[in-house]
Amino acid sequence: MLTLDDLLRQITDPSGREIFDPATGATVGRAPMGSTADVDSAVARARLAQVAWAARTDEDRADLLVRAAAAVESAAEPLAELLTREQGKPLNGANARFEVAGSVAWLRATAGTALPDETVFDDGVIHAQLNYRPIGVVGAIGPWNWPMMITVWQIAPALRMGNSVVVKPSEYTPLSVLALVKIINGVLPEDVLVPITGNGEVGSRLARHADVGKIMFTGSTATGRNVIHDSADSVKRLTLELGGNDAGIVLPDVDPSAVANEIFWGAFINAGQTCAALKRLYVHDDVYEAVCTELIRVAKETPMGNGLEEASLLGPVQNRRQFDKVRSLVDSARAAGARVLVGGNPDLEAPGNFYPVTLVADVDNDNPLVSEEQFGPALPIVRYRHLDDAIEMANALDVGLGASVWGSDVDAARRVAARLEAGTVWINAHGSVHPMIPFGGIKQSGYGLEFGVEGLKSVSVPQVISARH
Ligand code: NAD
Repeated sequence: MLTLDDLLRQITDPSGREIFDPATGATVGRAPMGSTADVDSAVARARLAQVAWAARTDEDRADLLVRAAAAVESAAEPLAELLTREQGKPLNGANARFEVAGSVAWLRATAGTALPDETVFDDGVIHAQLNYRPIGVVGAIGPWNWPMMITVWQIAPALRMGNSVVVKPSEYTPLSVLALVKIINGVLPEDVLVPITGNGEVGSRLARHADVGKIMFTGSTATGRNVIHDSADSVKRLTLELGGNDAGIVLPDVDPSAVANEIFWGAFINAGQTCAALKRLYVHDDVYEAVCTELIRVAKETPMGNGLEEASLLGPVQNRRQFDKVRSLVDSARAAGARVLVGGNPDLEAPGNFYPVTLVADVDNDNPLVSEEQFGPALPIVRYRHLDDAIEMANALDVGLGASVWGSDVDAARRVAARLEAGTVWINAHGSVHPMIPFGGIKQSGYGLEFGVEGLKSVSVPQVISARH
Protein backbone atom coordinates (compact mmCIF):
# COMPACT_ATOMS: atom_id res chain seq x y z
CA MET A 1 0.00 0.00 0.00
CA LEU A 2 1.21 3.50 -0.90
CA THR A 3 2.39 5.48 2.12
CA LEU A 4 2.92 9.20 2.62
CA ASP A 5 6.70 8.62 2.60
CA ASP A 6 6.44 6.87 -0.78
CA LEU A 7 4.45 9.79 -2.14
CA LEU A 8 6.85 12.38 -0.76
CA ARG A 9 9.82 10.51 -2.25
CA GLN A 10 8.21 10.75 -5.67
CA ILE A 11 7.43 14.45 -5.64
CA THR A 12 9.99 16.26 -3.50
CA ASP A 13 13.25 17.81 -4.63
CA PRO A 14 16.17 17.77 -2.14
CA SER A 15 17.29 21.20 -3.33
CA GLY A 16 13.76 22.61 -3.47
CA ARG A 17 11.90 25.05 -1.23
CA GLU A 18 11.13 23.93 2.31
CA ILE A 19 7.43 23.51 3.04
CA PHE A 20 6.37 23.84 6.68
CA ASP A 21 3.51 22.20 8.56
CA PRO A 22 1.27 25.11 9.69
CA ALA A 23 0.31 23.18 12.84
CA THR A 24 3.86 22.60 14.13
CA GLY A 25 6.35 24.46 11.99
CA ALA A 26 8.06 21.12 11.15
CA THR A 27 9.29 20.48 7.62
CA VAL A 28 6.86 18.51 5.46
CA GLY A 29 9.16 18.24 2.44
CA ARG A 30 10.98 20.26 -0.18
CA ALA A 31 9.04 21.33 -3.23
CA PRO A 32 10.64 21.82 -6.62
CA MET A 33 10.64 25.46 -7.71
CA GLY A 34 10.03 25.88 -11.41
CA SER A 35 11.15 28.76 -13.59
CA THR A 36 9.59 30.59 -16.51
CA ALA A 37 11.70 28.36 -18.83
CA ASP A 38 9.96 25.35 -17.27
CA VAL A 39 6.63 26.91 -18.24
CA ASP A 40 7.71 27.08 -21.86
CA SER A 41 8.80 23.45 -21.98
CA ALA A 42 5.68 22.30 -20.10
CA VAL A 43 3.43 24.11 -22.58
CA ALA A 44 5.36 22.68 -25.54
CA ARG A 45 4.96 19.14 -24.20
CA ALA A 46 1.28 19.64 -23.43
CA ARG A 47 0.70 21.09 -26.88
CA LEU A 48 2.18 18.05 -28.60
CA ALA A 49 0.25 15.61 -26.40
CA GLN A 50 -3.07 17.43 -26.92
CA VAL A 51 -3.39 16.37 -30.55
CA ALA A 52 -3.62 12.65 -29.80
CA TRP A 53 -5.70 13.32 -26.69
CA ALA A 54 -8.30 15.27 -28.67
CA ALA A 55 -8.36 12.55 -31.31
CA ARG A 56 -9.51 9.98 -28.76
CA THR A 57 -13.21 9.40 -28.37
CA ASP A 58 -15.13 11.23 -25.68
CA GLU A 59 -15.94 7.82 -24.12
CA ASP A 60 -12.24 7.05 -23.92
CA ARG A 61 -11.49 10.26 -22.09
CA ALA A 62 -14.43 9.75 -19.74
CA ASP A 63 -13.20 6.22 -19.03
CA LEU A 64 -9.72 7.50 -18.16
CA LEU A 65 -11.22 10.05 -15.74
CA VAL A 66 -13.12 7.20 -14.05
CA ARG A 67 -9.87 5.30 -13.74
CA ALA A 68 -8.14 8.41 -12.40
CA ALA A 69 -10.89 8.67 -9.76
CA ALA A 70 -10.26 5.06 -8.72
CA ALA A 71 -6.51 5.70 -8.48
CA VAL A 72 -7.04 8.76 -6.27
CA GLU A 73 -9.50 6.82 -4.14
CA SER A 74 -7.01 4.03 -3.56
CA ALA A 75 -4.40 6.60 -2.43
CA ALA A 76 -6.94 8.56 -0.39
CA GLU A 77 -5.36 8.14 3.02
CA PRO A 78 -1.78 9.24 2.21
CA LEU A 79 -3.18 12.09 0.09
CA ALA A 80 -5.35 13.26 2.98
CA GLU A 81 -2.44 13.02 5.39
CA LEU A 82 -0.26 15.12 3.09
CA LEU A 83 -3.03 17.69 2.75
CA THR A 84 -3.33 17.91 6.53
CA ARG A 85 0.42 18.30 6.97
CA GLU A 86 0.84 20.89 4.23
CA GLN A 87 -2.44 22.83 4.27
CA GLY A 88 -3.23 22.35 7.95
CA LYS A 89 -6.86 21.24 7.62
CA PRO A 90 -7.75 18.32 9.90
CA LEU A 91 -8.23 14.80 8.60
CA ASN A 92 -11.83 14.76 9.83
CA GLY A 93 -14.89 16.98 9.38
CA ALA A 94 -15.33 18.76 6.04
CA ASN A 95 -11.57 18.80 5.70
CA ALA A 96 -8.75 16.64 4.27
CA ARG A 97 -10.51 13.27 3.86
CA PHE A 98 -13.55 15.16 2.64
CA GLU A 99 -11.43 17.10 0.13
CA VAL A 100 -9.89 13.93 -1.29
CA ALA A 101 -13.32 12.28 -1.47
CA GLY A 102 -14.63 15.44 -3.18
CA SER A 103 -11.81 15.24 -5.72
CA VAL A 104 -12.82 11.64 -6.49
CA ALA A 105 -16.51 12.63 -6.72
CA TRP A 106 -15.78 15.50 -9.12
CA LEU A 107 -13.61 13.30 -11.34
CA ARG A 108 -16.45 10.76 -11.55
CA ALA A 109 -19.16 13.38 -12.04
CA THR A 110 -17.17 15.05 -14.83
CA ALA A 111 -16.71 11.67 -16.50
CA GLY A 112 -20.48 11.15 -16.25
CA THR A 113 -21.49 14.52 -17.72
CA ALA A 114 -21.65 14.83 -21.49
CA LEU A 115 -21.77 17.89 -23.72
CA PRO A 116 -23.14 16.64 -27.03
CA ASP A 117 -23.24 18.80 -30.16
CA GLU A 118 -26.61 20.55 -30.58
CA THR A 119 -28.78 21.35 -33.56
CA VAL A 120 -29.67 24.99 -32.90
CA PHE A 121 -31.67 25.72 -36.05
CA ASP A 122 -33.34 23.76 -38.83
CA ASP A 123 -35.97 25.26 -41.13
CA GLY A 124 -35.65 22.69 -43.87
CA VAL A 125 -33.31 24.97 -45.79
CA ILE A 126 -30.52 25.59 -43.28
CA HIS A 127 -29.30 23.14 -40.67
CA ALA A 128 -27.10 24.79 -38.04
CA GLN A 129 -25.21 22.77 -35.50
CA LEU A 130 -23.33 24.02 -32.46
CA ASN A 131 -20.29 21.86 -31.75
CA TYR A 132 -18.01 22.13 -28.75
CA ARG A 133 -14.35 21.79 -29.69
CA PRO A 134 -11.29 21.57 -27.44
CA ILE A 135 -9.44 24.83 -26.91
CA GLY A 136 -5.94 23.28 -26.94
CA VAL A 137 -3.71 23.82 -23.92
CA VAL A 138 -5.46 25.05 -20.77
CA GLY A 139 -3.49 26.60 -17.90
CA ALA A 140 -4.79 25.92 -14.37
CA ILE A 141 -3.59 28.24 -11.59
CA GLY A 142 -4.78 27.50 -8.07
CA PRO A 143 -4.83 28.78 -4.46
CA TRP A 144 -3.73 27.22 -1.18
CA ASN A 145 -7.05 26.74 0.62
CA TRP A 146 -8.55 23.71 -1.21
CA PRO A 147 -5.56 22.77 -3.34
CA MET A 148 -6.59 19.28 -4.45
CA MET A 149 -10.30 19.83 -4.97
CA ILE A 150 -9.86 23.10 -6.86
CA THR A 151 -7.22 21.46 -9.07
CA VAL A 152 -9.71 18.75 -9.97
CA TRP A 153 -12.42 21.39 -10.62
CA GLN A 154 -10.06 23.01 -13.12
CA ILE A 155 -8.45 20.02 -14.80
CA ALA A 156 -11.21 17.38 -15.01
CA PRO A 157 -13.60 19.28 -17.33
CA ALA A 158 -10.67 20.56 -19.41
CA LEU A 159 -9.36 17.03 -19.93
CA ARG A 160 -12.82 15.65 -20.63
CA MET A 161 -13.27 18.16 -23.45
CA GLY A 162 -10.02 17.11 -25.15
CA ASN A 163 -7.66 19.79 -23.87
CA SER A 164 -4.28 19.14 -22.32
CA VAL A 165 -3.55 21.01 -19.09
CA VAL A 166 -0.54 22.70 -17.50
CA VAL A 167 -1.29 23.02 -13.80
CA LYS A 168 0.42 25.46 -11.43
CA PRO A 169 -0.38 25.07 -7.75
CA SER A 170 0.07 27.76 -5.12
CA GLU A 171 3.62 28.04 -3.81
CA TYR A 172 2.13 27.48 -0.32
CA THR A 173 0.66 24.05 -1.13
CA PRO A 174 2.57 22.58 -4.08
CA LEU A 175 3.13 19.12 -2.59
CA SER A 176 -0.58 18.29 -2.27
CA VAL A 177 -1.16 19.09 -5.93
CA LEU A 178 2.02 17.40 -7.16
CA ALA A 179 0.97 14.24 -5.31
CA LEU A 180 -2.55 14.35 -6.74
CA VAL A 181 -1.24 14.91 -10.27
CA LYS A 182 1.29 12.10 -9.83
CA ILE A 183 -1.53 9.67 -8.99
CA ILE A 184 -3.76 10.87 -11.84
CA ASN A 185 -0.84 10.70 -14.29
CA GLY A 186 -0.46 7.02 -13.44
CA VAL A 187 -3.56 6.61 -15.60
CA LEU A 188 -3.38 9.38 -18.24
CA PRO A 189 -1.18 9.36 -21.36
CA GLU A 190 2.12 11.21 -21.01
CA ASP A 191 2.09 15.04 -21.02
CA VAL A 192 -1.68 15.43 -21.16
CA LEU A 193 -1.49 16.83 -17.63
CA VAL A 194 1.80 18.61 -16.87
CA PRO A 195 2.53 20.14 -13.44
CA ILE A 196 4.79 23.14 -12.98
CA THR A 197 5.68 24.79 -9.70
CA GLY A 198 6.72 28.27 -8.72
CA ASN A 199 5.49 31.65 -7.64
CA GLY A 200 3.55 34.45 -9.31
CA GLU A 201 6.19 34.97 -11.98
CA VAL A 202 5.65 31.41 -13.19
CA GLY A 203 1.87 31.89 -13.13
CA SER A 204 2.24 35.12 -15.05
CA ARG A 205 4.31 33.41 -17.74
CA LEU A 206 1.56 30.82 -18.14
CA ALA A 207 -1.05 33.57 -18.46
CA ARG A 208 1.04 35.30 -21.14
CA HIS A 209 2.01 32.21 -23.11
CA ALA A 210 0.82 32.43 -26.71
CA ASP A 211 0.21 28.67 -26.94
CA VAL A 212 -2.14 28.55 -23.95
CA GLY A 213 -5.72 29.07 -25.09
CA LYS A 214 -7.43 29.41 -21.73
CA ILE A 215 -6.59 30.07 -18.09
CA MET A 216 -8.67 28.62 -15.30
CA PHE A 217 -7.68 30.86 -12.40
CA THR A 218 -8.74 30.58 -8.78
CA GLY A 219 -7.25 33.05 -6.34
CA SER A 220 -7.48 36.62 -5.17
CA THR A 221 -9.14 39.43 -7.10
CA ALA A 222 -5.84 41.34 -7.21
CA THR A 223 -4.05 38.46 -8.93
CA GLY A 224 -7.06 37.90 -11.17
CA ARG A 225 -6.61 41.43 -12.50
CA ASN A 226 -2.98 40.60 -13.34
CA VAL A 227 -4.12 37.49 -15.17
CA ILE A 228 -6.53 39.60 -17.23
CA HIS A 229 -3.70 41.99 -18.18
CA ASP A 230 -1.23 39.20 -18.94
CA SER A 231 -3.66 37.25 -21.09
CA ALA A 232 -4.87 40.23 -23.11
CA ASP A 233 -2.26 40.08 -25.90
CA SER A 234 -3.23 36.53 -26.83
CA VAL A 235 -6.96 37.17 -26.22
CA LYS A 236 -7.16 34.15 -23.93
CA ARG A 237 -10.37 32.73 -22.66
CA LEU A 238 -10.59 33.06 -18.86
CA THR A 239 -12.54 31.56 -16.02
CA LEU A 240 -11.86 33.67 -12.95
CA GLU A 241 -12.93 32.38 -9.54
CA LEU A 242 -11.77 35.25 -7.35
CA GLY A 243 -12.16 36.53 -3.83
CA GLY A 244 -15.44 36.95 -2.04
CA ASN A 245 -16.83 38.50 1.11
CA ASP A 246 -20.08 36.58 1.40
CA ALA A 247 -22.93 38.05 3.40
CA GLY A 248 -25.56 36.06 5.28
CA ILE A 249 -28.85 37.69 6.27
CA VAL A 250 -30.70 36.22 9.24
CA LEU A 251 -34.41 37.06 9.13
CA PRO A 252 -36.44 37.69 12.31
CA ASP A 253 -38.48 34.49 11.92
CA VAL A 254 -35.41 32.26 12.19
CA ASP A 255 -35.11 29.52 14.82
CA PRO A 256 -31.59 30.30 16.15
CA SER A 257 -30.95 26.86 17.61
CA ALA A 258 -32.00 25.17 14.35
CA VAL A 259 -29.60 27.14 12.13
CA ALA A 260 -26.62 27.79 14.42
CA ASN A 261 -24.66 24.72 13.36
CA GLU A 262 -25.11 25.44 9.63
CA ILE A 263 -24.24 29.11 10.07
CA PHE A 264 -21.17 28.18 12.07
CA TRP A 265 -19.83 25.76 9.46
CA GLY A 266 -20.83 28.09 6.64
CA ALA A 267 -18.42 30.58 8.21
CA PHE A 268 -15.73 28.38 9.71
CA ILE A 269 -15.30 25.59 7.16
CA ASN A 270 -11.54 25.13 6.70
CA ALA A 271 -11.09 27.69 9.50
CA GLY A 272 -12.74 30.34 7.31
CA GLN A 273 -10.19 29.90 4.51
CA THR A 274 -12.80 29.20 1.89
CA CYS A 275 -13.74 31.43 -1.03
CA ALA A 276 -17.48 31.03 -0.55
CA ALA A 277 -17.47 31.01 3.26
CA LEU A 278 -19.87 33.23 5.15
CA LYS A 279 -17.74 36.25 6.04
CA ARG A 280 -20.30 38.83 7.26
CA LEU A 281 -23.43 37.94 9.18
CA TYR A 282 -26.36 40.42 9.31
CA VAL A 283 -28.78 39.50 12.08
CA HIS A 284 -32.15 41.12 12.83
CA ASP A 285 -32.35 42.89 16.17
CA ASP A 286 -35.19 40.61 17.39
CA VAL A 287 -32.99 37.51 17.28
CA TYR A 288 -29.53 39.08 17.53
CA GLU A 289 -28.63 38.00 21.07
CA ALA A 290 -30.17 34.53 20.63
CA VAL A 291 -28.19 33.90 17.42
CA CYS A 292 -24.98 35.10 19.11
CA THR A 293 -25.61 32.82 22.10
CA GLU A 294 -26.16 29.78 19.87
CA LEU A 295 -23.04 30.52 17.81
CA ILE A 296 -20.94 30.88 20.97
CA ARG A 297 -22.24 27.47 22.08
CA VAL A 298 -21.19 25.79 18.81
CA ALA A 299 -17.83 27.60 18.82
CA LYS A 300 -17.03 26.35 22.31
CA GLU A 301 -18.01 22.77 21.43
CA THR A 302 -15.83 22.56 18.31
CA PRO A 303 -12.29 21.22 18.84
CA MET A 304 -9.36 22.99 17.17
CA GLY A 305 -5.95 21.30 17.08
CA ASN A 306 -3.31 19.54 15.04
CA GLY A 307 -5.23 18.07 12.11
CA LEU A 308 -3.50 14.69 12.42
CA GLU A 309 -5.37 14.18 15.71
CA GLU A 310 -8.65 12.47 14.85
CA ALA A 311 -10.66 14.66 17.24
CA SER A 312 -9.72 17.97 15.58
CA LEU A 313 -12.37 19.62 13.44
CA LEU A 314 -10.63 22.96 13.01
CA GLY A 315 -6.96 23.48 12.20
CA PRO A 316 -4.46 26.31 11.93
CA VAL A 317 -4.38 29.14 9.42
CA GLN A 318 -2.28 27.92 6.50
CA ASN A 319 0.40 30.63 6.57
CA ARG A 320 1.65 33.39 8.81
CA ARG A 321 0.77 36.17 6.40
CA GLN A 322 -2.89 35.17 6.57
CA PHE A 323 -2.70 34.67 10.36
CA ASP A 324 -1.31 38.19 10.78
CA LYS A 325 -4.06 39.61 8.58
CA VAL A 326 -6.83 37.98 10.62
CA ARG A 327 -5.19 39.05 13.85
CA SER A 328 -4.83 42.64 12.81
CA LEU A 329 -8.42 42.87 11.53
CA VAL A 330 -9.82 41.48 14.79
CA ASP A 331 -7.53 43.67 16.92
CA SER A 332 -8.59 46.82 15.12
CA ALA A 333 -12.29 45.92 15.32
CA ARG A 334 -11.88 45.46 19.08
CA ALA A 335 -10.01 48.77 19.33
CA ALA A 336 -12.90 50.42 17.47
CA GLY A 337 -15.33 49.24 20.17
CA ALA A 338 -16.62 45.92 18.80
CA ARG A 339 -17.50 43.17 21.32
CA VAL A 340 -15.41 39.99 20.97
CA LEU A 341 -17.78 37.21 22.07
CA VAL A 342 -15.30 34.37 21.86
CA GLY A 343 -11.69 33.99 20.66
CA GLY A 344 -9.59 36.91 19.47
CA ASN A 345 -6.73 35.88 21.77
CA PRO A 346 -4.21 33.67 19.93
CA ASP A 347 -1.28 32.27 21.91
CA LEU A 348 1.59 33.92 20.08
CA GLU A 349 4.22 31.79 21.85
CA ALA A 350 2.65 28.47 20.83
CA PRO A 351 3.90 26.63 17.75
CA GLY A 352 1.82 26.75 14.60
CA ASN A 353 -0.60 29.31 13.18
CA PHE A 354 -3.55 28.57 15.43
CA TYR A 355 -6.01 31.44 15.56
CA PRO A 356 -9.04 30.64 17.73
CA VAL A 357 -12.59 30.73 16.40
CA THR A 358 -13.59 34.36 16.86
CA LEU A 359 -17.06 35.89 16.90
CA VAL A 360 -17.22 39.68 16.89
CA ALA A 361 -20.52 41.39 17.76
CA ASP A 362 -21.70 44.99 17.62
CA VAL A 363 -19.28 45.81 14.85
CA ASP A 364 -19.92 48.68 12.44
CA ASN A 365 -20.61 47.75 8.86
CA ASP A 366 -17.77 49.95 7.62
CA ASN A 367 -15.20 48.31 9.90
CA PRO A 368 -12.47 46.55 7.83
CA LEU A 369 -13.27 43.24 9.57
CA VAL A 370 -16.60 43.46 7.71
CA SER A 371 -15.62 45.20 4.50
CA GLU A 372 -12.42 43.21 3.77
CA GLU A 373 -12.15 39.50 3.05
CA GLN A 374 -10.61 38.25 6.31
CA PHE A 375 -10.18 34.66 4.97
CA GLY A 376 -9.71 33.15 8.41
CA PRO A 377 -11.58 32.02 11.53
CA ALA A 378 -13.25 35.34 12.45
CA LEU A 379 -16.89 36.25 11.85
CA PRO A 380 -18.26 39.78 12.31
CA ILE A 381 -21.95 39.90 13.30
CA VAL A 382 -23.74 43.11 12.32
CA ARG A 383 -27.11 44.09 13.77
CA TYR A 384 -29.92 45.39 11.53
CA ARG A 385 -33.49 46.57 12.09
CA HIS A 386 -34.85 47.03 8.58
CA LEU A 387 -34.49 44.36 5.90
CA ASP A 388 -33.79 46.95 3.19
CA ASP A 389 -30.77 48.13 5.20
CA ALA A 390 -29.43 44.57 5.48
CA ILE A 391 -29.82 44.03 1.74
CA GLU A 392 -28.13 47.33 1.01
CA MET A 393 -25.19 46.48 3.29
CA ALA A 394 -24.91 42.99 1.78
CA ASN A 395 -24.80 44.43 -1.76
CA ALA A 396 -22.52 47.36 -0.96
CA LEU A 397 -19.20 45.65 -1.74
CA ASP A 398 -17.61 45.20 -5.14
CA VAL A 399 -17.45 41.39 -4.80
CA GLY A 400 -20.32 38.94 -5.27
CA LEU A 401 -19.39 35.28 -4.93
CA GLY A 402 -21.97 33.76 -2.56
CA ALA A 403 -24.60 34.92 -0.08
CA SER A 404 -27.21 33.31 2.14
CA VAL A 405 -30.59 33.97 3.70
CA TRP A 406 -31.72 32.28 6.92
CA GLY A 407 -35.35 32.04 8.02
CA SER A 408 -38.34 29.78 8.58
CA ASP A 409 -40.45 31.07 5.67
CA VAL A 410 -38.53 29.79 2.64
CA ASP A 411 -40.65 31.76 0.14
CA ALA A 412 -39.89 34.99 1.99
CA ALA A 413 -36.21 34.01 2.07
CA ARG A 414 -36.33 33.34 -1.69
CA ARG A 415 -37.64 36.88 -2.30
CA VAL A 416 -34.69 38.29 -0.32
CA ALA A 417 -32.30 35.98 -2.21
CA ALA A 418 -33.45 37.40 -5.54
CA ARG A 419 -32.36 40.88 -4.40
CA LEU A 420 -28.81 39.85 -3.44
CA GLU A 421 -25.88 40.48 -5.79
CA ALA A 422 -24.03 37.16 -5.71
CA GLY A 423 -23.37 34.28 -8.08
CA THR A 424 -25.00 31.81 -5.69
CA VAL A 425 -27.50 32.52 -2.90
CA TRP A 426 -28.15 29.68 -0.50
CA ILE A 427 -31.21 29.49 1.73
CA ASN A 428 -30.63 28.03 5.19
CA ALA A 429 -27.17 26.88 4.10
CA HIS A 430 -23.95 28.52 2.98
CA GLY A 431 -21.15 27.41 0.71
CA SER A 432 -22.34 23.95 -0.25
CA VAL A 433 -21.31 23.03 -3.80
CA HIS A 434 -22.35 20.15 -6.04
CA PRO A 435 -20.76 18.84 -9.24
CA MET A 436 -23.99 19.31 -11.21
CA ILE A 437 -24.84 22.82 -9.94
CA PRO A 438 -23.02 25.64 -11.76
CA PHE A 439 -20.82 27.82 -9.55
CA GLY A 440 -19.20 31.17 -10.22
CA GLY A 441 -18.98 34.75 -9.05
CA ILE A 442 -20.31 38.08 -10.27
CA LYS A 443 -18.91 41.61 -9.85
CA GLN A 444 -15.22 41.45 -8.92
CA SER A 445 -15.53 37.85 -7.71
CA GLY A 446 -14.88 36.88 -11.30
CA TYR A 447 -16.66 35.44 -14.29
CA GLY A 448 -17.32 32.10 -15.93
CA LEU A 449 -19.04 29.07 -14.49
CA GLU A 450 -17.61 25.81 -13.24
CA PHE A 451 -19.32 22.38 -12.80
CA GLY A 452 -21.89 20.44 -14.76
CA VAL A 453 -22.64 21.09 -18.42
CA GLU A 454 -21.87 24.81 -18.02
CA GLY A 455 -18.42 23.88 -16.74
CA LEU A 456 -17.74 21.75 -19.82
CA LYS A 457 -18.83 24.58 -22.10
CA SER A 458 -16.33 26.89 -20.43
CA VAL A 459 -13.36 24.69 -21.39
CA SER A 460 -14.34 24.33 -25.02
CA VAL A 461 -14.84 26.66 -27.96
CA PRO A 462 -18.16 26.74 -29.74
CA GLN A 463 -18.12 26.15 -33.47
CA VAL A 464 -21.22 26.55 -35.62
CA ILE A 465 -21.49 24.41 -38.73
CA SER A 466 -24.21 25.82 -40.92
CA ALA A 467 -25.20 23.71 -43.92
CA ARG A 468 -27.77 24.11 -46.70
CA HIS A 469 -29.98 21.05 -46.97
P1 NAD B 1 -3.39 34.43 -4.84
O1 NAD B 1 -4.10 35.26 -5.83
O2 NAD B 1 -2.35 35.04 -3.99
O3 NAD B 1 -2.65 33.20 -5.58
C1 NAD B 1 -3.36 32.31 -6.41
C2 NAD B 1 -2.40 31.70 -7.43
O4 NAD B 1 -1.98 32.70 -8.34
C3 NAD B 1 -1.13 31.10 -6.83
O5 NAD B 1 -0.86 29.88 -7.51
C4 NAD B 1 -0.09 32.15 -7.16
O6 NAD B 1 1.22 31.63 -7.28
C5 NAD B 1 -0.57 32.63 -8.51
N1 NAD B 1 -0.11 33.95 -8.91
C6 NAD B 1 0.35 34.96 -8.15
N2 NAD B 1 0.64 36.04 -8.92
C7 NAD B 1 0.33 35.69 -10.20
C8 NAD B 1 0.37 36.37 -11.44
N3 NAD B 1 0.79 37.63 -11.55
N4 NAD B 1 -0.06 35.72 -12.54
C9 NAD B 1 -0.53 34.45 -12.46
N5 NAD B 1 -0.58 33.75 -11.31
C10 NAD B 1 -0.14 34.36 -10.20
O7 NAD B 1 -4.54 33.75 -3.99
P2 NAD B 1 -4.38 32.83 -2.68
O8 NAD B 1 -3.95 33.70 -1.55
O9 NAD B 1 -3.59 31.60 -3.01
O10 NAD B 1 -5.89 32.34 -2.45
C11 NAD B 1 -6.78 33.02 -1.64
C12 NAD B 1 -7.76 33.81 -2.48
O11 NAD B 1 -8.37 32.95 -3.44
C13 NAD B 1 -8.89 34.39 -1.68
O12 NAD B 1 -9.16 35.69 -2.13
C14 NAD B 1 -10.07 33.49 -2.02
O13 NAD B 1 -11.33 34.09 -1.86
C15 NAD B 1 -9.77 33.14 -3.42
N6 NAD B 1 -10.46 31.91 -3.82
C16 NAD B 1 -11.52 31.98 -4.66
C17 NAD B 1 -12.22 30.83 -5.01
C18 NAD B 1 -13.42 30.88 -5.91
O14 NAD B 1 -13.89 29.83 -6.33
N7 NAD B 1 -13.93 32.04 -6.24
C19 NAD B 1 -11.81 29.60 -4.48
C20 NAD B 1 -10.71 29.56 -3.62
C21 NAD B 1 -10.04 30.73 -3.30
